[in-house]
Amino acid sequence: MKINPDTLQRFVFENTPVRGNLVNLTQTFQLALNQQQLPKGLRHALGELMAASALLSATLKMHGALVLQIQSKGLLKLLVVECSTNLEGAINIRATAKWSGEISDEQTLFELVEYGHFMITLDPKDGGQAYQGIVPLEGGSISTVLENYMLRSEQIDTRIWLFCDGNSAAGMLIQKLPETMNQVTQAEDLIIQDLETWNRVGYLASTVTEDELLHLPTEALLSRLFNEEDVRLFEASTTSFFCSCSRDSVSNMLRLLGDEELTGIIEERGNIEVNCDFCNTLYTFDKVDVAQLMLMETATITGPEIH
Ligand SMILES: [Zn+2]
Repeated sequence: MKINPDTLQRFVFENTPVRGNLVNLTQTFQLALNQQQLPKGLRHALGELMAASALLSATLKMHGALVLQIQSKGLLKLLVVECSTNLEGAINIRATAKWSGEISDEQTLFELVEYGHFMITLDPKDGGQAYQGIVPLEGGSISTVLENYMLRSEQIDTRIWLFCDGNSAAGMLIQKLPETMNQVTQAEDLIIQDLETWNRVGYLASTVTEDELLHLPTEALLSRLFNEEDVRLFEASTTSFFCSCSRDSVSNMLRLLGDEELTGIIEERGNIEVNCDFCNTLYTFDKVDVAQLMLMETATITGPEIH
């Protein structure tokens, strides 16, 4: 039994530029996906992507949303995971998938992808600049795709291990922070030493098994992997499933369709139903609700919050 489920923990290798994160998603994973009828392969892939989103967002110094997407023209259309960190450091995650046709439980993510892309979006939500990066989906596993992305787009050496057994998901990330210019010009010995540390830690980390990462308590895992290293573990952050949808956000989205479109749907179907893909909440708007929406349109000038 995992002693510390639904936590993210940062650690550093003292006096080196190497740092890491560990995450376990148990209730977070189950609450996020149990409302959705997902083929097994996509459930596992979303678990890995959810773990990855928490690991990556912990490496960023920002409060806001990190969105990871895998888009494809194959049977799989979209995997999307949104991870937001609030001011208290708590991590909220939601996830969903879109696909077409029949997918058997034996089919894995990469068998369902054609012309796949991986997309990462950072939305600081505090007025900072939003950022989006996109790379082809190459490498045969989500962790390889992310490692390649981090190296090519961010120039940061990163190794990532992700596992999902269908009930929980877990991940580990290690990163070597880039040398500063000062170090580059002044201390070649230090750079060689750092590189040796990085290679050694990477090798030790690569011995991790699925069972260990999913089930060992954090301290036990770190001492099993990095017994001889000087590792400092930071306080854990908690992870939860949280969907930010609301009747207000759906109302705003509907208003964008315009009076004519809304009236048309009401005349045809009697009411308007919007289902949230992430949490499966159904929002229903009848004729009276829609009339109110249209009145509000003229009175509200605030920007729409599309979810
Ligand atoms: Zn929702």
